[in-house]
Amino acid sequence: MGTLFKKIIDRELPADIVYEDELCMAFKDIHPQAPIHLLVIPKKEIPSLANISDEDKMLIGHIMLKVADIAQSAGLEKNGYRVITNIGTHGGQVVPHLHFHILGGERLGPLNSSMNSL
Ligand code: AMP
Repeated sequence: MGTLFKKIIDRELPADIVYEDELCMAFKDIHPQAPIHLLVIPKKEIPSLANISDEDKMLIGHIMLKVADIAQSAGLEKNGYRVITNIGTHGGQVVPHLHFHILGGERLGPLNSSMNSL
């Protein structure tokens, strides 16, 4: 696939990385939609949540645990935060490499058209 997130994983593109292990990586979104906006991605190239399979069970579970850990490390646990994954064209997905947005740091609005820019 060779998406720009793959280039970030391979250190061919710079990113503000806040967490990394053998399975996943988290970095700051380049166009933040909230005071804190992080992206958590698997290192495995999976286009979206619609493309996971049985063999990814452990990986997805690992990433969900890390999403919570990373949000806590970012100071978001007390007041809460939002986790979003966009899927395909109608979902507003721009980068075809599975990623989970972590958004927080302020009270977020309802999930309506104001979120369409994500
Ligand atoms: P999505 O619309 O769900 O595919 O989200 C893709 C996200 O990647 C957007 O929020 C972009 O701002 C973000 N993004 C694009 N390029 C970069 C980059 N080089 N570093 C960090 N975030 C990026």
